[in-house]
Amino acid sequence: MIFMSEDQQSKSISMDLSIVIPCYNEEESLDELHKRLDATCKKADVKSYEIILVNDGSSDKTLSIMTQLSKKDKNLIIADLSRNHGHQLALSAGLSLATGEYIFVLDADLQDPPELLHPMLERARTGIDVIYGQRKIRKGETWFKIFASKAFYKTLSYLSDIPIPENVGDFRLMSKRVHEKLLSMPEQHRFIRGMIAWIGFEQEAFLYERDARYAGVTKYSFAKLIHFSIDAITSFSIRPLRISLLFALLGAILAFLLGSYAFYGYFFKDTISGWTSLATIVTFFSSLQLICIGLIGEYIGRTYIQTKERPLYMIRRLYKNGKKQ
Ligand code: UDP
Ligand code: MG
Repeated sequence: MIFMSEDQQSKSISMDLSIVIPCYNEEESLDELHKRLDATCKKADVKSYEIILVNDGSSDKTLSIMTQLSKKDKNLIIADLSRNHGHQLALSAGLSLATGEYIFVLDADLQDPPELLHPMLERARTGIDVIYGQRKIRKGETWFKIFASKAFYKTLSYLSDIPIPENVGDFRLMSKRVHEKLLSMPEQHRFIRGMIAWIGFEQEAFLYERDARYAGVTKYSFAKLIHFSIDAITSFSIRPLRISLLFALLGAILAFLLGSYAFYGYFFKDTISGWTSLATIVTFFSSLQLICIGLIGEYIGRTYIQTKERPLYMIRRLYKNGKKQ
């Protein structure tokens, strides 16, 4: 499970603020990220804070830069995962270690300006549980990504039973009580922004301009984006199963009409049994069935994975003050 062991919990001191950042091959951004975060935290109205950097199985110098940074900054905690688990699980690993009254989540590439912590914290302290960053402008993103993301959120909001805000990533500040609820959700396929929307309590959008990446390229390959979208849709809705039932019903009606026509033709017309129409009908119905079976399989597969109750991720090692814990 994603909870800390009792031993870990008893050792940890509760902080005013925890900052959680998943990092995958972010060697070029880390120094600048740390510089800006450090300045931001020092100016923030908090007595104690921790910055949890999660190394999601990077193959570049990310980990060694992180440990170097943690030698200089006692507020840094480095969680080194055993391999690349993907953004949502890396974030879950970081969240499981956070002990703050407020938890601030952002990406390592500086697309989400760390300095927005100040106004977001101010809003949160008026009693709002989740302040989620909503993008007014997305700099440095391709038209394809913007289009695909729009199409994805439209589909998701149609399929899902709870409203999931559009143009929102994982950049947010959340209260301890929402954080605790989130940790109690054991699902394997995690779409964290949706899970937080599902939790409820007081939530508010914070409009901001999303910068371009500070350095490097996106770590979300096309395949990862597709996986992410399927996870999001299947973990928030069983409506696709109902839609497949609808397909099946439509297919049955069509089959009935075609069958009636075939009988009519047999009795009242000159029937030369057409191979083309037969082939079309067979392919049409078999592909329809395959779609429905595939959809059902997608959900059964997820149920199967969930029943195994495997841990969500493996932390190889924790580092503090540049030292292995
Ligand atoms: N990330 C991660 N594991 C992955 C992919 C991405 O930890 O397998 C991190 C990445 O380092 C970044 C955040 O998740 O801090 C968002 O990734 P990215 O900026 O590449 O996504 P985009 O902003 O392009 O959607
Ligand atoms: Mg990014």
